[in-house]
Amino acid sequence: MISLSKPIIGDDEKQAVMRVLDTGMIAQGPEVAAFEDEFSRFMEGHHCIAVNSGTSALHLGLLASGIECGDEVIIPSFTFAATANAVALCGATPVFVDINIETFTMDPNAVEAAITENTSAIMPVHLYGHPSEMDPFTEICTRKGLTLLEDAAQAHLATYKSQPVGTFGTAAFSFYPTKNMTSGEGGMIVTSDDEVARKAKLLRNQGMEVRYKNEVVGFNNRMTDIHAAIGRVQLKKLRERTTKRQENAKFLSENLSTVNVPIASSAVEHVYHQYTITTDRRDELSEYLNHENIGNGVYYPIPVHQLPSFGKELDLPNTKTAAQQASSIPVHPLLTSEELHRIVEVMNEWN
Ligand SMILES: *Cc1c(COP(=O)(O)O)cnc(C)c1O
Repeated sequence: MISLSKPIIGDDEKQAVMRVLDTGMIAQGPEVAAFEDEFSRFMEGHHCIAVNSGTSALHLGLLASGIECGDEVIIPSFTFAATANAVALCGATPVFVDINIETFTMDPNAVEAAITENTSAIMPVHLYGHPSEMDPFTEICTRKGLTLLEDAAQAHLATYKSQPVGTFGTAAFSFYPTKNMTSGEGGMIVTSDDEVARKAKLLRNQGMEVRYKNEVVGFNNRMTDIHAAIGRVQLKKLRERTTKRQENAKFLSENLSTVNVPIASSAVEHVYHQYTITTDRRDELSEYLNHENIGNGVYYPIPVHQLPSFGKELDLPNTKTAAQQASSIPVHPLLTSEELHRIVEVMNEWN
């Protein structure tokens, strides 16, 4: 069986956890601070605030940016539900728009058309590790005075015109086990805004900066030192593992002949959280690959606006097509050359 994804936990991670456990101080402490500092070096020195999940990072990033009840936040419908959940958990309304079918990222023209007097933020998702079109989004936010929030949960180290995603607006990363790097569970808020950073830190820790002098109503969304220790080890290996993903993707794209391979424009560095192909016989392909013991997955079969939790009827044709035709196949860094060749061989024999 060639698995679709595989978290890579080695001796380094185990030793890092043991080192923290041996100190007896295991809640948020020096490891979290070091992880934030090290992550910040990949984020042009912006503030990094570690939290317990990517969803918390999105949620606190929005709250710290002042998003509240009555606000509208424009997001793509073709994403993981957490993007929309984070908006709804602020009491704000997610406004779902369509994607560009070639990159699976939010369509800037659709965003422009969805802006109302209640719009307060737009939240592009760098889906599958492919950066969103940040020039138009930055321009729209500047012109309209809107907050830009990046859902970078799947896009560690991706760049748009050589600038790292996560540094355009306030951003959220995830360290869930299947993501390009993991801390077990975890997330990171990244922002260059001192006030947003201060608020996010307050919200993470019961509204306290000074102990027992709680300034605002907050959460316990702290990361533990145990998780941060894992994250620090993974971060050290991230560049190398990302390069391996990119090489695997290149091999697949050069050799696959029966499906549409993912497109990455020359302006971006795609980090292939998923390698996602399209075909109008997606379900047949899935059955075939299952039979051949090749892992595959559909991200995401139901557009978020149609989920029972949001239940909206909207006409988003590209989103609909993507939900019907997209299929992800293995690209993870542990794939051997033999496995890559087998994937190509099996896929190219499909008819
Ligand atoms: C994984 C993911 C999240 C949420 O991250 P968690 O760490 O699982 O809470 C948010 N948005 C997208 C696009 C994701 O893939």
